Amino acid sequence: MGHRHQLTDSVIQVNHLSFKYTSQYVLEDITLHVRKGAFLGLVGPNGSGKSTLVKCLLGIQTPQQGDISLFGEPLKKFSGWDRIGYVSQKANSFNSGFPATVFEVVSMGLYGKIGLFRFLTKKHKQKVYEAIEKVEMSAYTNENIGNLSGGQQQRVFIARALVSDPDLLILDEPTVGVDVHSVQQFYTMLKQLNQEHGITLVLITHDIGAMTDYVTDVACLNKHLHFHGDTDTFTESENEMMSTLYGHDVHMLTHNHDHSACEVPTS
Ligand code: ADP
Repeated sequence: MGHRHQLTDSVIQVNHLSFKYTSQYVLEDITLHVRKGAFLGLVGPNGSGKSTLVKCLLGIQTPQQGDISLFGEPLKKFSGWDRIGYVSQKANSFNSGFPATVFEVVSMGLYGKIGLFRFLTKKHKQKVYEAIEKVEMSAYTNENIGNLSGGQQQRVFIARALVSDPDLLILDEPTVGVDVHSVQQFYTMLKQLNQEHGITLVLITHDIGAMTDYVTDVACLNKHLHFHGDTDTFTESENEMMSTLYGHDVHMLTHNHDHSACEVPTS
């Protein structure tokens, strides 16, 4: 599946990572391994350090302790950034006034490769069409992005990340603002990207919701990594885990897909 030179099955390796912005640590002694082909759900309440961990992974923040390797290479030496796609919740902010088609938005994913003012070759265009097809949005190729629903827009942003053929896709809270029914379709689409296209996925969310029906592995973060293992092992101890993690009514959290019910106040 992995069509590029992969010398190792390790996609992300985090060893004893601790990080603080100011005096208080927000991540403490995190050790996490993501293997090639995994679909990892990284869950934790708001303020638990999920985004901070991603910033460390992407080299935006430097941990005070511990180390990170990507595709078997220490972060400091890592140069294969085009192998990593990142889609944030904030990507989902085009309003109906933004004049760009799905095709144009997805094309933007190539700019890093070909330079902003180059013309798209036939081959580039083909890549764009393929990425749109992978997220099942071909019927909307020439539609204005502003006319699409939140869930459809999020698919387009994933296509934009896919256009450069990443081996790893990191999705930060991608279902915020997506309705319940679309969330399940969205997760189904992610599962296909994982299984059929061999892309390793890390899905970050504060909403455990339906996610466990789709992911292969779960990691639970709240400053510490409270659990990391396969989904079956997680579901066996889910209730216990959730009360450790969220400290309140677990039933509500695991069986209610309404995001607002899952908001946990940050300290
Ligand atoms: P999550 O993504 O799980 O919601 P974050 O990683 O955003 O959590 O935040 C973890 C903790 O770090 C929170 O207490 C948050 O207030 C704090 N924090 C986040 N960003 C900054 C920053 N730039 N400066 C100081 N503290 C921050």
